[in-house]
Amino acid sequence: MEWHSLMKPASILIVLVLVVAVAGGVAAQETPLNVVATTTLVADVAAQIGGDLVVVSSLLPPDTDTHAYQFTPQDVARVSQADLLLVVGAGYETFLGRLLESAGEIPSVVVSEGVAILPVHAEDDETTAGEPLGVLGQGLVCEGEEDEAAHDGVEHHDHAHGVCDPHVWMDPANVMIWAENIAAAFAAVDPINADVYRANAVAYIAELEALDAELRALVETLPRERRMLVTNHVALNYFAHAYDFDIVATVLPGVSTGAELSPQALIELVELLRAQSVPVIFAEVTANLQLAQLAAQEAGVTLVADLYTEALSDAGGPAATYIDFMRHNTRTIVEALGE
Ligand SMILES: [Zn+2]
Repeated sequence: MEWHSLMKPASILIVLVLVVAVAGGVAAQETPLNVVATTTLVADVAAQIGGDLVVVSSLLPPDTDTHAYQFTPQDVARVSQADLLLVVGAGYETFLGRLLESAGEIPSVVVSEGVAILPVHAEDDETTAGEPLGVLGQGLVCEGEEDEAAHDGVEHHDHAHGVCDPHVWMDPANVMIWAENIAAAFAAVDPINADVYRANAVAYIAELEALDAELRALVETLPRERRMLVTNHVALNYFAHAYDFDIVATVLPGVSTGAELSPQALIELVELLRAQSVPVIFAEVTANLQLAQLAAQEAGVTLVADLYTEALSDAGGPAATYIDFMRHNTRTIVEALGE
C-alpha cells in the first residue's frame, strides 16, 4: 500500500509542527484563550464577547441534535486542552459528567447561571409555560436523564419536582445573561483584558435588545388566538413565555428528542390537535420526523420542519449566528401560523 508509506513522514511532520506550536505559545504568553463551548449557540455568543482575544470552538458541530450526541476520543482530547469549557447547564449536556471524567478537571462555566428556569411540563399548565422553577446556580438542581434517583417516590407530574427545561436560549433575554456570564468568565481567566470583554458584552447585549424588539414587532402581526405552538419535542417553552404563545402540545413528551411515544399517546395527540384546530406542527431540522409526520397526517395539519432548536446551521445556512437563528425561527413560526 503505497499511500501508507507516504503518510508516515507526513504525520511525523504534523506532530513536529504541533510540538513547536505548543512550545512557542507557552514562551510567548500571547496565545489567545482556547475556549471550547459545548454547542454552536454558546460558541457564537462567546466569540462575540472574546473577539480577537479568544479562539472559540464548539464541541458539537452545526446542525447537530445535542440530545443524541455521543462524544468521541477526539472530543475528549479537545476538551482536555481547553483553557475554559462553556456549558449551557440546566441538565442539557447529559454527556458532560462522563466527558469530564475522561478529559480531567477543566475549568468550566455554566453560562445559564442566573437564568430563571422553566419546568418541562408546559403542556400540563393552564398558562403558557408555568412559573419559573428557580434560578440556576442558586440551589436549583436540574437532574439529567440518567439521574433516576430524583424520580424515586416522586409524583411524575408534580411541577415542583419537574425536570428543568434547558432550552433557555430561545429567549434573547436569557442570552443577555449568557453574555454577562461569559464576559465575567473571560475576565477571571484574563483579567488584563477585562474591560475589553465587558465592552464587547455591552455592545452585544445592545444587539440582542434590538433583536428582541424586532421579534416582538414581528409576533405582534400575528393575532393572539393564532399563537398556538405544537412542537416535536419540548424546545420552545422560553420562546412561548417571552412572546406570548400557547404551547398546546408536543409530539414527544420530554425535553429530549430521545423520548418515546406510545400508540395511545399518539391517538390522544391527534384528538387534541383536531379539538384545538391547531394548524401547524413545528419540528426541528435535526428531527426524526416519523412520529410528527404521522401525527400531522392523521390530524390533517401542516408539518413545518425547518426550525433550528439545538444548534446553528452551517455558515451558508439560514441560522449561522444566534441572531439569525432567532430571526429565522420567529419568521418561520409567524409565517406558518399567519397563513
Ligand atoms: Zn432540545
